[in-house]
Parts: sequence; structure tokens; C-alpha cells
Amino acid sequence: MLRTSTLLVLAASLAAAQAGQPNASYLKELAVKPLEPLHYTLDLTHPNGHLAAVRLEFRAPQPQARVQMPAFYPGRYSIFNFAVNVQQPAAFCAEGGAALPFHRIDPNTWEIENGDCRQVRWQYRVFGERPLDGTFFQVDATHANLNGGPVYMVPEGDKPNPVVLDIQAPRGWKVVNELGQLNQTHLLFPNYDIFIDAPTEAAPDFTLDQFQTDGKTYRVLIHDYATASSNAANRTALLAGLKKLATTENAVVAPDELDTYTFFFHFDPGSSDGMEHLFGTQIMVPAGLGTDAGLTGAEDDAAHEFFHQWNVKRIRPLALGPWDYEGENPTPSLWVAEGFTQYYGDISLERSGLEPAADYLRNLGRSMGSSLTAPAYRLMSAEESSLTAWFHDATPLRQQTNEGITTISYYTRGEQLAAVLDLDIRRRTHGAKSLNDAMRWLWTNTYHAPRATYYLPGRGYTDADVEHAIEAAAGGASYADFFRDYVAGTQLLPYDDYLSAAGLKLACSVPEGVNSYSGVYLAGNQVRGVAPASPAEAAGFGSGQRLESLDSKALAALPPGQPDTVAVVAHGQRLNLTLSPVAPQATQCTIEEIPGATAEQKALRAAWLAGR
Ligand SMILES: [Zn+2]
Repeated sequence: MLRTSTLLVLAASLAAAQAGQPNASYLKELAVKPLEPLHYTLDLTHPNGHLAAVRLEFRAPQPQARVQMPAFYPGRYSIFNFAVNVQQPAAFCAEGGAALPFHRIDPNTWEIENGDCRQVRWQYRVFGERPLDGTFFQVDATHANLNGGPVYMVPEGDKPNPVVLDIQAPRGWKVVNELGQLNQTHLLFPNYDIFIDAPTEAAPDFTLDQFQTDGKTYRVLIHDYATASSNAANRTALLAGLKKLATTENAVVAPDELDTYTFFFHFDPGSSDGMEHLFGTQIMVPAGLGTDAGLTGAEDDAAHEFFHQWNVKRIRPLALGPWDYEGENPTPSLWVAEGFTQYYGDISLERSGLEPAADYLRNLGRSMGSSLTAPAYRLMSAEESSLTAWFHDATPLRQQTNEGITTISYYTRGEQLAAVLDLDIRRRTHGAKSLNDAMRWLWTNTYHAPRATYYLPGRGYTDADVEHAIEAAAGGASYADFFRDYVAGTQLLPYDDYLSAAGLKLACSVPEGVNSYSGVYLAGNQVRGVAPASPAEAAGFGSGQRLESLDSKALAALPPGQPDTVAVVAHGQRLNLTLSPVAPQATQCTIEEIPGATAEQKALRAAWLAGR
């Protein structure tokens, strides 16, 4: 229980308790003082009803205070109705315990009539069942896994305040917060944003291993719903794989200031996700760790999420932190924040020896090839894809859309852009510099710029900063045209111009069984869209129709250059459409060596694939 008079004592205990927490010196730098702490108590002792009880004590303005449930959680670019799961709210004066009147003033906000009472206790229960992922929270008889957004309300205006958290777990359960030691149940955080970005796991039966590399500690929490005895060999293999990945990725940007990074893994058939946090990651793999799919799924996700500790969590777009928890936080830069992370994650698997180079090049070629033929790449730019993330990152859509045709992914587009930029910087500088140097420029000039907000060191970046970073790494060459055409624009990327630096080229062919191109996109026999200006559009195909007279295989096998009658059903009526397919597209791409590649090209390729 907190009193105003105990504030100085609490400030001292904040420093003391942080000294016992992982990353204590990093956290200590961030605390903004003097501000009144928010004191949360999380009660998980009745997990069967999927309910957690939260008590929040805070120093309230007079005569009214407002508390608010977030509608947003860092890392997922969507608006959620977390407040729908709040129940049984109640308000009390902490001194004396008198009940205080309150009412809900909008879907996410409650107003408390605290009058003369300065120290208010606000309490509620929150329901968390499914899904187990990087956004929501789950509590049941097997465990509690908490992301902060759907659990913790914040008093209006108090996001910069330090936070105290006490956790009450069921008897016999272990508890770990990403910023706490094993079974540390009294924790301190410099501000609300950092507090809710540090997940908690509580369960009777998880394991917590650790390893060291580059002078840092890496903790690995594993909660496997398959029988524990089945995963012993793969648990050892996962730790070895993570150590290789950490060593590889630690060399890209700069040594991080963290002393401890924490992986939370869940192996659960119903759950698949990965989410970056400031001090760790949460990864959900839909297979047991004892299986090949479980082990490789965990390594693949870890390669991506681990790189986020630099890219997006610290080198961050301007809009991403501190956040507006009530609205959208749009940014044009997810092609860097997610796309470059996708690039470094994928190539780090190869550089660590966890994936053969041939597999890496085949997958990269497939991605590049798809961007040359999928119509969405001529309809949406990398920046636009980032700005419209709110439409497609996990928000349940009740509105029918044409997104399957019109939308590109900032993950894949960003990875394609990162790959060609990396090769281009290496060629221009004869191997002296790489995309790593552009990331280092951002690290030094934005993350280590003067602190602009209470949230973290430095400031957020803009796409103009990214352009400067690349130009600086490439020895001053201008990338204005590149950004105009391929980042803000929708020009097709001439991949071979860049791959040739490494003595490579894109090799594309027409898939077997495909004789022609119509531009119909199908899910089974259902039409889900048509490509703009395609034969299908001219013939009158559209989403909502079902192919009747032939299936997708027969459609692809139609000869080019001659009209055919295709029957579809729409609104319950049969329609005969006249389709004139054209010559097929070479959509099946991989990356191949150029015959007669020079020694310089081969040397650049070797350095690129080795991460030198
Ligand atoms: Zn990501």
C-alpha cells in the first residue's frame, strides 16, 4: 500500500529493487523522477475461470480521476477491444477504504469521483482465454501468460510514471517476468510503456535455461504442452541454435546495453506467433519441441524476433514509442522495422549454419520473383503497405476487401529491398561497407541522439533518416531515385542489376501444368479476386463467383490465344463467361549463379553469405 509520504522511500527502493533485476543499469537510466509510482497487484490465484484480478493504486488528481484500458499493444499494428474483457470494476479510497463512485465514459475509459481522496485503489477482473499469442493474455489451470496491453489500465496522463508490480501466483507455480529473476514477484519499471512491454509467465512446469555469449546472459523459458521427456535432445539443440543466432546477430549493429535477454517459448498445437519486446521475445510454436517442426519453427522465429531488439525496439520509427494506446500509431517505415528484420533474421539462419545457403537463395529468389508478377506490387508501395498495416495485421475484418489482390506485405517487400540495398552498398564500396553500416548509422544518429521523450533513449527515425543512413554507408551515392521508385513508388525492382554484384541472377520459369495466364485468383474453386487489366477482368470474373465447368488446374491448362467458355455460379445463377487467356507468366523463380562469374563477384557473394 502506498502513501504520498512514502514517495522518497519508494524512490530509494526503486533503485534498490532494480539493482536486483536483469538490466538494472539500463532501467535506472530511464527512470523519470520525481513522479508518483503506479502500484499494480496482479492476482492469478483463481485461474480456472480465465480471470486475473488487478488492483491499481495511484495518486489521483482531485476531484476526479480517469483510468483507461489500452486499445493497442506495441508490436501489433491493430486496434483491439481489450476493454471488452474488463469486468467487476470497483474504486476505493486507499486511505480508509471507503468506496468511491465511478462510471464508464467511453468504451475504454472509467471516471472515478474521488473528491478529497488522493490515493485511489482501482480494481477489476479481466478475462483471458484465447489466443495464446504475442498480443493477448491467457490464464487457465495450466499457466498464465500475460502481455500487458490486455491486462493493465493506466490513469490518464500517468504513462511516464514509474511502476511497481506485485504478482500473486497459485501455490506451487513458478513466475518469471522478462524483467525479473525467477520467482521475483516484486518488480519495478521506469514507466508504464516499459512495464506493459515486459510479459509474464506463471506455470507449475516450465523450464528456464540460460547461456552466455559476447558477455551477455540469454535466458530461455520453455513451456511445452507435449510430454517433457520427449524434448530433451531438442531442448539442447535449441539452446545451441539460439547461441549461434545470438552470436551472429550481435555482430550486425552494435553491442546492446542489455545484460540479459529473455526468450519465452510456448510449444502448443493451437498457437503460432512471435512478438518482440524491449528485453526479450515471446514465441509460440504450433508443434512440440520434440519434433523437427517444433525445433526449426522455434529457431526461425527466434532469428527474426531477436533482431528486433535493435530494429524496431530501439532503432524505431518516429511513431512507435511512446504510444497512443487509444488510437492508431501509423508509420510509413514498417518496411524497415519489419522488412529489414525479416532480411536479417532469414540471412542470419544461413550465416549461423542453421540453414544451407542454397535454401536461403531459393527462398529469396521465390520472394523476389513473386514481386515481379503479383499485381499488388504495381498497386501498393512499401511505404503505403506500412501505413495501412492497421487494415491487415490481425484486426478482425468484418468488411469484405480486395486485399488479396491489392496489398503487399511490408515483411517481404522490406526483405527484398534490404537484400538489394545490402548488395548495392557492398558493390559500391568494394566490400568495405554493407547494410550493417546503415543500421549502425541509425543506431548512432537516432537511438543515441539526445533523448526526445520519457520513453527510451534517443528519438524515432523517418524514412528520410533511412535514406541518409544508406547513402552514408554507400559512400555518399544518392539513393533519391531508388526511394522514389521502389520505396514510395511501385516500380518493379530490376533484381538482376543488384544480384549481379554477387555473380547471381534470378532464374524464372513457367510452373509445370500452366499453359496460360488469366488473372483469376482462386481459393479452391472460389474466385477471390481478379488482376486489374487481366483477361479475367475483361471476361467478367469477380470475387464471390464459383468455377463450375472446370477447376483451377484445368483453368491453368487452357491454351493461350483462344477464347474459351467458362461457366461460373454467382447469386445462385449459372453464367457463361468468354475467357481469352494469354501467354503464361514465369512465376517460379530461384537464384542462380551467372556462368563465368568473376573472382570479385564470387568474393562479394562469399562475404555477403558469411556476414563479413
Ligand atoms: Zn517482426
